[in-house]
Amino acid sequence: MNLAERDKAHLWHPLTQHKLKPNHLPIVKAKGVTLYDDEGKEYIDGIASWYTCMYGHCNAYITSKIKAQLNELDQVVFSGFTHKPAIELSEKLIAILPSKQNKLFFSDNGSTAVDVAIKMALQYFFNKKEKRTRIIALEEAFHGDTFGAMSVSGLSIYNGPFESFLLTIDRIRVPTEHNSKTVFTHFKNLVATGEVAAFIYEPLVQGANSMRMYDANLLNELLAIAKKHNVIAIADEVMTGFGKTAKHFASEYMFHQPDIICMAKSLTAGVAPMALTSCTQKIYEAFYDDAITKGFFHGHTYSANPLACTAAIAGIDLLVSKDIQERISEISTKHLAFERYIKNHHKVRSTRCLGVIFALDLNIKMDRYGFLRDKLFNYFMEEGVFLRPLGNTIYVLPPFVITNTELDRIYNVIENALELV
Ligand SMILES: *Cc1c(COP(=O)(O)O)cnc(C)c1O
Repeated sequence: MNLAERDKAHLWHPLTQHKLKPNHLPIVKAKGVTLYDDEGKEYIDGIASWYTCMYGHCNAYITSKIKAQLNELDQVVFSGFTHKPAIELSEKLIAILPSKQNKLFFSDNGSTAVDVAIKMALQYFFNKKEKRTRIIALEEAFHGDTFGAMSVSGLSIYNGPFESFLLTIDRIRVPTEHNSKTVFTHFKNLVATGEVAAFIYEPLVQGANSMRMYDANLLNELLAIAKKHNVIAIADEVMTGFGKTAKHFASEYMFHQPDIICMAKSLTAGVAPMALTSCTQKIYEAFYDDAITKGFFHGHTYSANPLACTAAIAGIDLLVSKDIQERISEISTKHLAFERYIKNHHKVRSTRCLGVIFALDLNIKMDRYGFLRDKLFNYFMEEGVFLRPLGNTIYVLPPFVITNTELDRIYNVIENALELV
């Protein structure tokens, strides 16, 4: 039996209705921007495997560091013990994080990074004996699939069975130049109750919401209001972090900075699942006390796994390198040129671009995971390009190491695909 057949016996895949999608393509190898299936067919990884492998798959610098670490220390309990990879990572990361971030808390994935952030914010006020229990989130946000993260997410079509178990959240619309006045007033009224503990947002780009982008000045205004009322600002940089918006973190586009930042996905350069929730000294100090119960009693078995920390350190080394910074700016320039070229195509309704993220909306209505969307997906795969359209949105978020020729190939396949719909 081949791999695809063996897969069917015991595996249950994420985000999948198996009755409608029984087949999963075996990938046997990945190198740089290329995925290889079990028949040797090649695909350009146009979304960096969900924005994780930003320095290319099986990057030689990263794998050599991990191999060396594997001979020294594989895993140790991070409660009561510490180790060099975690310490080195903290020093390198704090140096590039937006100002005032000073403490790092480890967990395993983007969803847990968000859960940790929510718990930190709620316990911050609990410890200070201030009754603040409400949380504000943006409509159509995506923050993950655990209960806390699901609660603050607004893309809720899949949350039906769990709705009554979720936290109660106040939702505001994503601000635009047309609705901003109403949104600001709504936000002000909510925070004026004095009951709001935190405001959570994906800075500038809502990834799962079809790469929707919004204006830095408008977000800055919301942050200014939050700051004024001592509401904790939680930036979910799980998708936007580590160079994708052309700055190390999207938060750098705003004057007002978050109190808490969530990181995962490309934190470990796509090699290992690991997440971080960073916070300011001010947050940390509310937990620092003689009373044991004021501490943060949250912890995952694999916290700060030394191999994952090593991958993260190597990833940061590459991120800040001249080579990668040049690639980011070149990809960004090429995206803008393609945007100018394609935006007047009669099948295109709108386009947007930030850093290495490019998205276009087709001017027809399509279901998020419907028939037409599948037709597009299958066409891309036949053409050897892995892209995952979301409804009628086609987006590209390639590894930084993609060449101009490979990028042109993606643009070309997208342009041809417009004739299909
Ligand atoms: C992917 C994502 C998450 C969830 O991360 P997982 O590692 O899949 O749990 C949370 N927030 C944002 C913005 C994301 O893009």
